[in-house]
Amino acid sequence: KKITIAIDGFSSTGKSTLAKQLAKKLHYIYVDTGAMYRAVTLFAMRSGFIEEDKIDEDSLIKTLDDIDLKFVFNSNLGFAEMYLNGENVEKEIRTMSVSKNVSQISVIAAVREKLVAMQQAMGVDKGIVMDGRDIGTVVFPDAELKIFMTASPEKRAVRRYKELLDRGEDIVYADILENVQKRDHIDSNRAISPLKRAEDAIEFDNSDLGLEDQFQRMYEHSLR
Ligand code: C5P
Repeated sequence: KKITIAIDGFSSTGKSTLAKQLAKKLHYIYVDTGAMYRAVTLFAMRSGFIEEDKIDEDSLIKTLDDIDLKFVFNSNLGFAEMYLNGENVEKEIRTMSVSKNVSQISVIAAVREKLVAMQQAMGVDKGIVMDGRDIGTVVFPDAELKIFMTASPEKRAVRRYKELLDRGEDIVYADILENVQKRDHIDSNRAISPLKRAEDAIEFDNSDLGLEDQFQRMYEHSLR
């Protein structure tokens, strides 16, 4: 019987890597909800709604209906890519400039309402692995399997640093560490749907265990 799997946790804990692998193994759909918040952030940046650190929330809220988000499966890559108003933005949403603004966009109630409704619609048929910050608490409080991932900030910053280097971004480690910690702080302390472990979530600390062991553990849980 197909189930719903919710994977939440801090940034760069390896959530998406594990969630993707698990979905592939189980022949489930994988949904990266962070990509959705990132795409809305990119839209806001391109629209000129973010200047320095200030966000023109009213303008963003007024144009929310103009933001069309779609996941399109790329069979070469084996996972879905994010499309914003028909354009593949998969690369652009992972850049440092989007990472710097995304947590301020994801505190906006109207943004969360729109994205949570889309996420719930994607999950009606079960057989889904969704990763994010509020999946086990808000999007699918009845998910059969909930996982909460943590790791030390330094481990996470190193992960993110390597990822961005691989993508050819010109970045400094200290900036990454700062961004990871800042996002976790904002995400954990916001008024709506703060990042926290659901009471019935299984905690995975990714600081020491390797990805292969983590995956095995997660897979075993999904079969119970
Ligand atoms: O998962 P990722 O690091 O790509 O998420 C980017 C940001 O999107 C997070 O730091 C958080 O602010 C926001 N987010 C969220 N709720 C989710 C997924 C992501 O608020 N379910």
